Amino acid sequence: MNDPRVAPSQYQLVPTRLQERLDKDVTRCHLCLWRCKLVHGQRGFCQAHVNRHGTLYNLSYGILSAIDVAPIEDKPVRHFRPGTRVMSVGSYGCNFRCGGCHNLEISWGVDALDALARGQSTAAYVTPARLVEAAQRAGVQGIAFTYSEPAVWLEYVMDVSELAREAGLYTVYVSNSFVTDQALEMMAPVVDVLCSDIKSLEDAFYKEICGLANVEQVLGSIRKAHDLGIHVETRTNIIPGRNDTDAMYRGIATWIRDNLGVDSPWHITRFFPAFHLAHLPPTPSESLWRAHDIAHQTGLNNVYVYDDKGCDCATDNLPLESYLDGKATDLHQVKKCAASCCGTEGILLKKYEKAAKPET
Ligand code: SF4
Ligand code: SF4
Repeated sequence: MNDPRVAPSQYQLVPTRLQERLDKDVTRCHLCLWRCKLVHGQRGFCQAHVNRHGTLYNLSYGILSAIDVAPIEDKPVRHFRPGTRVMSVGSYGCNFRCGGCHNLEISWGVDALDALARGQSTAAYVTPARLVEAAQRAGVQGIAFTYSEPAVWLEYVMDVSELAREAGLYTVYVSNSFVTDQALEMMAPVVDVLCSDIKSLEDAFYKEICGLANVEQVLGSIRKAHDLGIHVETRTNIIPGRNDTDAMYRGIATWIRDNLGVDSPWHITRFFPAFHLAHLPPTPSESLWRAHDIAHQTGLNNVYVYDDKGCDCATDNLPLESYLDGKATDLHQVKKCAASCCGTEGILLKKYEKAAKPET
């Protein structure tokens, strides 16, 4: 377990929190439900964890891609500390590949994570203590982990959350909920809020964005978080032709009512065309309000419609240095892992090791 008081002062790979050695050099990651089984030199699906001689390391610990400050209602979270402000942060890497993702450079983040692995990254490294200080300086009451799935850098989420709690700040975890029970059990003592997507109730929808995912797993994780005492709010981005039927609205609302309670908030957001789904139109207002009305008929008391808001986008955020002390040039110096176990060759990801070998 990383102790936030001794978090590396410079960028460095840190051991993955939930890992299980299966064989000499074969290790499984248990942070999310991919449960990647990795051999030496391989990275997980999220690209943020690498196996070095049997030990898994997180490449993105402390690496921030975006920061923003906004009301907690923008996450969207409405029934936890309403009226307070929250500092949102994200890194690189995600365990899903949503066709309509608005945060692609951050969420898939392959180039950024490759640069880290090669020791060529100029991304910002911010220790947990420095982030908590930045949040206090900004006058916010909480810190939110968002823009991509936070499970893929849970090492940092945990360390920041522990320090944040000591400093009197709450934490919000914005998730797709394709996470393991072990990860939820680990975070429950220090994370206050889970804001989770319920993207669909059809397995085919989840299969398209994550080959392994299914509805039961995602709903099971949301239920588990609720049972662990984390404050849970759910959100569905209504996408024309994908999840906009009355049966879908009724099904999601019924699941929330029966598993999280009639007062559990459901946030209904509008889809805006992007990436693989750029050919679809934005969601008509009527669909959002239809979902709202059906949810009320189903018995949910707190249903919120966001006609003007889709995902938690990082595209319009101010530069990181607007929130952090120190000079931008220092923040964006080239990062090489401060540990020396890889020698001068970087982390030697398997694909580069292969590329470096002469053809036989
Ligand atoms: S966090 Fe990354 S490496 Fe770990 S199981 Fe999930 S996708 Fe695989
Ligand atoms: S929409 Fe969310 S879960 Fe899907 S790829 Fe983007 S960041 Fe990941």
